[in-house]
This record gives sequence, structure tokens and C-alpha cells, in this order.
Amino acid sequence: MSTQPRAVIVGAGIAGLGSAIALQQAGWRVALLERGDRLRGDGTALLVQANAIRALRALGLGMAIEAMATPVNAGRYRRRDGRELVHIGTPESPEVSTVVVHREDLFEALVAALGSDVEVHTSTTATHIDLVRSAAGDRARRWPADLVVGADGIGSAVRSAIDQASRIRGTGTVAFRAVVPPHRAPELPDEGGETQGPDGHRFLYAPMGRRGVYWAAVMPGGLRPEPPDVRRDLLKRWFADWHDPIPRLIATTRAEEIHQQEIAYLKPLPQRYVHTGEGSGAVLVGDAAHAMTPDLGQGAGLALEDAVTLGVCMTNRSVEDGLAEYERLRRSRTVKLAKASQRLGAVLGARGRVGSSLRNGVLRALPDGWLGRGTDSAADWTPPSPR
Ligand SMILES: Cc1cc2nc3c(=O)[nH]c(=O)nc-3n(C[C@H](O)[C@H](O)[C@H](O)COP(=O)(O)OP(=O)(O)OC[C@H]3O[C@@H](n4cnc5c(N)ncnc54)[C@H](O)[C@@H]3O)c2cc1C
Repeated sequence: MSTQPRAVIVGAGIAGLGSAIALQQAGWRVALLERGDRLRGDGTALLVQANAIRALRALGLGMAIEAMATPVNAGRYRRRDGRELVHIGTPESPEVSTVVVHREDLFEALVAALGSDVEVHTSTTATHIDLVRSAAGDRARRWPADLVVGADGIGSAVRSAIDQASRIRGTGTVAFRAVVPPHRAPELPDEGGETQGPDGHRFLYAPMGRRGVYWAAVMPGGLRPEPPDVRRDLLKRWFADWHDPIPRLIATTRAEEIHQQEIAYLKPLPQRYVHTGEGSGAVLVGDAAHAMTPDLGQGAGLALEDAVTLGVCMTNRSVEDGLAEYERLRRSRTVKLAKASQRLGAVLGARGRVGSSLRNGVLRALPDGWLGRGTDSAADWTPPSPR
């Protein structure tokens, strides 16, 4: 009889795929359940910081990330007329750098790293989470396991079984994001950055080499019900008098390339990320554990850190000991960063004339490179050593 430990992972986003790779490397058999019909990223992009790059290397994806990433060089915050508010600064160490990657490329690399010890079940929504007998499944099938991993995002069913205190809260803002392919993307006058407008409007863009240009706009309000082409016309109107290349970027984006998403986060975060039974348990990773506002650009990075840490904790340890160590290594760091992200969002998203000019004053008063050092300290993480 096989003594290989078994995990069932609910959700195949970045956290679920990363956890599947890490657990497989730790000698586990994994069933990966995903409600979507395919494993793939949406058509947008991600800023990936040094901590996430280290996590990807630990998962064996160092070469893949080098091939798919474009360095984000001199980040800066500007006003909508283009005047600079603050320069983020170049990181002191060349190793500590941020890159931008297409989500499809990242998913492809993660999926390619799944080995034969991972069985994937798409079009499977886990509705039955059983912490007593340690299993997850739907009406038709049940996957018993030594470990149930909740990688099912902000609306996590696994989290609801472990913790009842945590709540999903909206920021009252929506993000519109797109990648313009290189043959259509306009020539950029600079290396990108973030622009702050009045009333909490924000726009970020970053060149992505052979993949084109990534942009993201954040607006107060809810999801827009209009058809995609009307939505794009609205974006054109809202950003018409913003500095170059913002209007040109929106104009060259096809309506169907623009993804919209309400920005939400968890507050409070779950009191614990793990549940321990007798010889079995459950654990939360990624947004299921600590969905935060995207202001620090660290959500996916922390999901990858969780995955690597879970793999290390589940190597040569009992499930009970491994989960205790995971909680110790992950909870305080993620609680701290969730708070920092929310604070940064409150400053950057300041609304109204008074709020905007206060925000601009705060940003102008920051010493050159200060914000960069703040984000560098968030990226200051290295994988735990195996026992
Ligand atoms: C506007 C915006 C910009 C962002 N930018 C960045 C950035 O630049 N850098 C960065 O690091 N992070 C960024 N983030 C955060 C990042 O996108 C998330 O933190 C990350 O994608 C979370 O991954 P996850 O796998 O934990 O969750 P998800 O991506 O939500 O994946 C959960 C998966 O579980 C599946 N699922 C859910 N429920 C079930 C179920 N019951 N059964 C089966 N499957 C299920 C879902 O279909 C999905 O595939 C941004 C977020 C937003 C909103």
C-alpha cells in the first residue's frame, strides 16, 4: 500500500498551481480542482517583485521567469498633466528589481511544471469541504486527503469552513486592465509609472517588450454594465486630458481586451490560516487567506511565497507540525503587508480637491527613493530552508 501523502487543492489560480508544484516536489500526490474549464490566466499582466521571483526560482521556474519578464525600470508617480510627484528610485541592489509578466505566460509556465503526481480536474466546483473527514469535492465526487488546501481566492469555500470572522469588503473602486499587443501599441515616451488624478482616478502603464504594453486604470464606482465598446469610449472620455501616452494607449486598445474587476479585500483577515485534525488538516493560501488591495502589487507574490513555504513545511514533518510552522511563517508577514497595502491605497486613492491636493503634498514631501525603499522592504523575503 502506498504511504505517499495526498493533498486536494481547491482552485488553480497562481496560489493553487504554485502549491501543487511545491507539494509535488515535497513528495505529495495532489488532486487539483478548478471550477473553470481551462487552466489559464486572463489577458492582463502582473508586476512581479523580487520576493516573487525568488519564490518562482524555488519552484524551479527561474529560467521561465527570465524568458517571460520585462524589467520595470524607473517607476514614478505623476499628476495627470505629467508633472512628477515623486520618483520611486532605482533599487540599491540590482537583484532587487521588479518585472512585469503576462498572466498567460505565467500560467503556462506553472502548468508546464505540474508533474505526473498532480491530477487536474477542471469544470469542478468544490462545494463540499469536510474538515472532519478531511476531503473536498462536489455533489458527484469526493477527494479524501491528508491535507485540504484552500487556494480558491477571495470568496473561498475552504476559508468559510475554517474561519467565520473574516469579511470581504469592497474598496468602492473598479480596475480596468489590458495588454495592448506590440503591433498596435503606441510608441512610449518613457518607461511608464503611475499617474494620480482627482477623485481617486489612477492610471498605470508599463512596457512589456515583445508582449506590448500593460495598462491599468482604477476608478471609483462599481462594475460598468455597458457593452465593451461603450465602456472603452467612457475610459477614453475619462482620461482624455491626461498626459501622453495615456489617451493613445486607450485608443489603441480593442474593447474586448479590457478586463474590469471590482477591487475587494478581506478585513479582518482569518484569525488562523490552518485547521488541524488527527493526522490531517486544512490550510489557506493566496487570496483565500489574505486578499488585499492591489496597491503594493504583492497579492500574487505572496501567493507564490505561501506555496513555497507550504512545500517546505510539508517536507519530512507530520501534518500537525507542518501546519503549525506554516502559520508561524505566513500569518504575521501577510497581516502586516495587508495593512500596509490598505494604507498606501488610502493615500493614493484620496478623493475630492482637498484630498487630492493633500495626497500630492504628501507624495511631493517624500524624500527621493522613499517609496521605493518601502516596496523593497515588502519584497525582502527569501524561501525558508528545508529541515
Ligand atoms: C486590479 C488588480 C491588480 C493586481 N495587480 C497585481 C500585481 O501587479 N502583482 C501582484 O503580485 N498581484 C496583483 N494583484 C493581486 C493578484 O491578482 C492576486 O492576489 C492573485 O491573483 C491571487 O491568486 P489566487 O490563486 O490566490 O486567487 P485567484 O486568482 O482568485 O484564483 C482562485 C482560483 O480558484 C478557483 N475557484 C474558486 N472557487 C472554487 C471552488 N469552489 N472550486 C474550484 N475552484 C474554485 C477560481 O476559478 C480561480 O481559478 C492584483 C489584483 C487586482 C484586483
